[in-house]
Amino acid sequence: MKVISVAIDGPSGAGKSSLARRAAKTLGFVYVDTGAIYRTVAFYCSENGISPDDSAAVAAALPQMQIQIDYSEDGTQRMLLGQRDVSEQIRTPEISMLTSAVAAVPEVRAYLLDMQRKLAQVRSVIMDGRDIGTVVLPNATVKIYLTAAPEARAQRRCKELRDKGMDVTFEEILKGVQERDYNDTHRDISPLKRADDAHLVDTTCLDFEESLDVLVKVIRQYTGADL
Ligand code: C5P
Repeated sequence: MKVISVAIDGPSGAGKSSLARRAAKTLGFVYVDTGAIYRTVAFYCSENGISPDDSAAVAAALPQMQIQIDYSEDGTQRMLLGQRDVSEQIRTPEISMLTSAVAAVPEVRAYLLDMQRKLAQVRSVIMDGRDIGTVVLPNATVKIYLTAAPEARAQRRCKELRDKGMDVTFEEILKGVQERDYNDTHRDISPLKRADDAHLVDTTCLDFEESLDVLVKVIRQYTGADL
């Protein structure tokens, strides 16, 4: 059976994860959330008192982290540190900011590159992140750059966190979105950018179902008769 890979990149809050997860379910692919892997590195650093700005210390800690990715029957991705499931703890705004810093450490990116490529070798995947189409899977079957205006992204993130019971303001979330955009697009190594051959999907004026529809159509169109 032919292994298909769909690379979805874009800034934070564009709806990549929820859209990619649903599209994967519709198409029978495994959804790989690479942001969660970087978040797990940041979480480990935060728990162990390692400053994300101390790249040498972060790099030295990598072999001890024992990061593992697990997929349950229904395709849900769980992040493990050793035996411990940290999938929920990695989702706080603090960890989001720390993640942006550890993701700029070259040794972290090199360490996680192999892990991500291996995941896409054995199964058809929809993988989302910042450098999937440009670095991780440059030969992906389909590449998509999924984006939306910063205000629309902050609005969505705000709702998501409030639904989880977190007390957040739109202004602080927008500031976080803009800071992460800046960090992700300005770092020296693997900055977030649209691959030349990536299909642009802008969800600013689309609701979830409309975005999903566009996404699945593009994937079907580019993978031809395979689906
Ligand atoms: O996708 P998510 O918002 O969970 O990613 C968290 C952070 O991880 C991003 O802001 C980015 O700094 C980093 N990241 C990355 N490369 C990826 C995925 C995520 O640098 N492929």
